Amino acid sequence: MLCSMRHLEIHVIETEHDVDLALQSGVLSLDRLDSTECVDCALPVGHASTAGFEPFAVVIDETDCDWAVCLECASPVTEGFALEPEESLEHLLESEDLEDLERF
Ligand SMILES: [Zn+2]
Repeated sequence: MLCSMRHLEIHVIETEHDVDLALQSGVLSLDRLDSTECVDCALPVGHASTAGFEPFAVVIDETDCDWAVCLECASPVTEGFALEPEESLEHLLESEDLEDLERF
């Protein structure tokens, strides 16, 4: 059944304006803003960063459990399709793996 599949929402919070939008839409709650850190690398994110606002992603699962991930840790998911097809091809052509393949 499709409803048994795990379902995740990812909201990328890049600016303080995004924080306001996330608060208004219920993606974030105020109490989560004070002690937010990346669940993977423990980098303080959002307003918790001492170096100014640190962009992050909020992940929400099907049970409304939520957690924060810094953009670097989230990038394989959030930027996986950001490469233009030409860039992807260039990267592939420059890879050593392909050179190895050409020998055969
Ligand atoms: Zn991280």
